[in-house]
Amino acid sequence: MIYQRYIPAHELFSAQLELLMQNGQLPTVAAHLIGVAAALAMFWPFLDPTAMLLWAGAFLALLLLRSLHMSRALSSHAYRIAPRWVYAWLVLGSAATGTIWSAVYIYAAHHVPITMQYTFLLLILMITAISVGFSVILREYFIVYLFTAIWPIAWWSLANYWEQPYNLVLGLVLLAFCALLVVICDRMYRSFRNMISLNWEREAMSRELGELTHSLRERNRQLRDARQQLTCLANIDELTGLGNRRMANSALNDEINRARRTGACLSLVMLDVDCFKAYNDTYGHPAGDRVLQRLADLMQRATTRAGELVARFGGEEFILILPGACAETALRTAERLRQLVEEEAIPHAGSPQFGVITVSQGLLTLEPGTDAQPGELVSRADQALYRAKQLGRNRVVVAGPSPSADIGAAPPG
Ligand code: GH3
Ligand code: MG
Ligand code: MG
Repeated sequence: MIYQRYIPAHELFSAQLELLMQNGQLPTVAAHLIGVAAALAMFWPFLDPTAMLLWAGAFLALLLLRSLHMSRALSSHAYRIAPRWVYAWLVLGSAATGTIWSAVYIYAAHHVPITMQYTFLLLILMITAISVGFSVILREYFIVYLFTAIWPIAWWSLANYWEQPYNLVLGLVLLAFCALLVVICDRMYRSFRNMISLNWEREAMSRELGELTHSLRERNRQLRDARQQLTCLANIDELTGLGNRRMANSALNDEINRARRTGACLSLVMLDVDCFKAYNDTYGHPAGDRVLQRLADLMQRATTRAGELVARFGGEEFILILPGACAETALRTAERLRQLVEEEAIPHAGSPQFGVITVSQGLLTLEPGTDAQPGELVSRADQALYRAKQLGRNRVVVAGPSPSADIGAAPPG
């Protein structure tokens, strides 16, 4: 699943608690502090100052406790571990604060002038209106406050309608105000919940997309590695570790093009092990394999110049591609290789002339400015190799312009 539409109810609840405490802590304290300061200023001339100071002190202590509770719940992540407790304390705090405001109003109604009383009511209504902005994240939190701060005042006004001229109207207006705020609060609450859900969904989606991208990158890397390995395997001869015929053909093609562009020489040597069938017959096929491996090492030792390439062309036949080597240099390389093989002195009882493993080579040089196809070059080098066999093996034959013009280099001695 790429993204999740359903948020577990308990997680949504924890998220609401967290949001409420994060956003509500400062405004709650600030709004009530202003309320306390205003109440003190308004009622000072009419009420007992000591009682008022005690009330203000107790209220401030309550605000401090509520603020501490929110900070602790946020830092200890209690809204996730024990959300019901956090919720209960929040609602209780809200109810306590609301009750204090309504109680002060009802008490002051008997002791202060009516204008002061209504100004105070306006203050309570303002604090309530401010609270709706942040506490609506948790519907019950606000409704409890509303029904402890405003609702009792409304009923008290209705119950004492004869005491003051506007009590009846005030009671009805306050009841209507409560009903309106409940509807507004409900609407805002639903929007908030949707917002939290959408936010959640977006976060889940981006997290899962991130994971998906990561795993796709990983897959791509694996595919690239696998492709590299396959390319490697497709070009390497398993027995000798040299390039295979496929690699040789491709390299030859590249080198012909390069030689054409740069005007350099390009030489090509086809090499075949002499009387190898007899070797296998005498020493066995596994021993024959080991000889091919040793010969592959020797060929690599003989071709150390940059760009030179040795490949196994098939069976016991090898190809040496010598870019930049003109006839003379290439002949020196081939001859050196022939000597190296001979000096290796791998016993070969089945070899009629030499008694050791030897190789025959056909050398062809593509002079600058001449054009040729890879197949044609290989075929001409192969013909020269055939001539080397005909001339008695263990030698290098340089391909001439025609087969009859091939130059054979006999082994010394
Ligand atoms: P020539 O001097 O004329 O080349 O004689 P030859 O016996 O080498 O003749 P030919 O080139 O026709 O024989 C190739 C032999 O090489 C036949 C086969 O047994 C052997 N051979 C080819 N591939 C392998 C290999 O992978 N391992 C082993 N041990 N032998 C191989
Ligand atoms: Mg052979
Ligand atoms: Mg052969």
